[in-house]
Amino acid sequence: MASFLRVIMASLTFTVITLSGISCQSDFDFFYFVQQWPGSYCDLKQKCCYPVTGKPAADFSIHGLWPNYNDGSYPSNCAGSSYDSTGISDLKDQLQRYWDTLSCPSGDGDKFWSHEWEKHGTCSGLDQRAYFESVLRLRNSIDLLSALQSSGIEADGGTYTLEAIEKALTQAIGHKPGLECNRDVDGQRQLYQVYVCIDTDASTLIDCPVYPSSSCSSTISFPSF
Ligand code: AMP
Repeated sequence: MASFLRVIMASLTFTVITLSGISCQSDFDFFYFVQQWPGSYCDLKQKCCYPVTGKPAADFSIHGLWPNYNDGSYPSNCAGSSYDSTGISDLKDQLQRYWDTLSCPSGDGDKFWSHEWEKHGTCSGLDQRAYFESVLRLRNSIDLLSALQSSGIEADGGTYTLEAIEKALTQAIGHKPGLECNRDVDGQRQLYQVYVCIDTDASTLIDCPVYPSSSCSSTISFPSF
């Protein structure tokens, strides 16, 4: 009888959790929430294409929310539902504001979001809607540009120490982020992407269990966009 009740309780719990959009199995250790500086993406690609909606704001933009393992590896392209834009059509304005596509040819964002969902979102334990809502919620609560500006770090093409950038972001976020750099046309290292670590609940900020390998030098530039 006791074991029968245990089975019933377990299946009820599973149903409740599944209905709320969160799978009870999260086969990964944490998320990287990755934001990108558009000025550096355009340098990296030599050229980029503004989305059909026009030039994005000069602000950090979402790259993705990526399930990761503590050893630095990550799951990708997990079995799951394929991308369905109709399920998030009411979020499209916000996605176009905060998750810009900059690849060529110009698009409306759908191709980029679909890629991110298929590669990373399907491994997140979230259904598609919960995944995109979680990403937007994170973007609303983590304002990297303001964090840098309040420490006098501006996207003005100036050069800053890596230490100053890390310090400004750590102070604002409460946890040290991972930084990724790329090179501008002159070969100068510049701030490209910022990795903030998030618990498997897709909302709690945590200390990073592992950092992406460092691609920055001790001084880096912060190009305008
Ligand atoms: P991922 O596969 O999630 O690691 O992301 C890498 C892919 O995303 C590459 O194909 C990039 O060219 C693409 N990508 C990165 N940033 C952007 C962006 N802002 N707009 C469009 N595609 C992007």
